[in-house]
Amino acid sequence: MPVLKAYLAIGSNLGSRYLNLKKAVLLLEKYGKIKVIRCSPLYETEPVGKVKQGFFLNGVVEIKTALKPLQLLAVCKEVEKKMKRKKTVKWGPRVIDLDIILYGGRVIKVKGLTVPHKEMSKREFVLKPLVDLNGKGRHPVVKKSFSKLLKEIKGEKTVKKYGKRI
Ligand code: ADP
Ligand code: MG
Repeated sequence: MPVLKAYLAIGSNLGSRYLNLKKAVLLLEKYGKIKVIRCSPLYETEPVGKVKQGFFLNGVVEIKTALKPLQLLAVCKEVEKKMKRKKTVKWGPRVIDLDIILYGGRVIKVKGLTVPHKEMSKREFVLKPLVDLNGKGRHPVVKKSFSKLLKEIKGEKTVKKYGKRI
């Protein structure tokens, strides 16, 4: 079974944000078939959208996995469920959000899953930690490096480095 490198974006803006992220990473590994390789530095970031809510704590996790894309998505949703994430409004506050941003260099578009994540090139809170881990990597659709994508959008939202790492 091929083992691929993938990147997950993690975020939280409810409760103990730092502990939520830590717990989510532990739970991901607990399901098996996912090995966490590295975690990026974390960033405190201004929420996207119109909902009034607290700042997020965001990061990116590099994993190796033998899971297929939809299986990986199912595990992410399972972890969210386990952590009692409630369905709220789109782009609203959440205890935990786990998104697949990249899966190998693959382009996937099936019901319920788009990879690379469709908002990633617009979001500094995804690109910044991703660049910390792999700035030279390329977006498989846009065909630009992640560092270049980050330079193109920099400065639109507050994204501030957080003191602790996972
Ligand atoms: P968002 O992350 O956009 O704020 P949700 O976490 O509620 O919102 O996700 C909504 C849906 O997006 C999920 O149920 C999932 O099926 C779908 N989705 C599509 N592409 C992805 C992806 N790359 N990673 C995670 N979820 C995705
Ligand atoms: Mg999500």
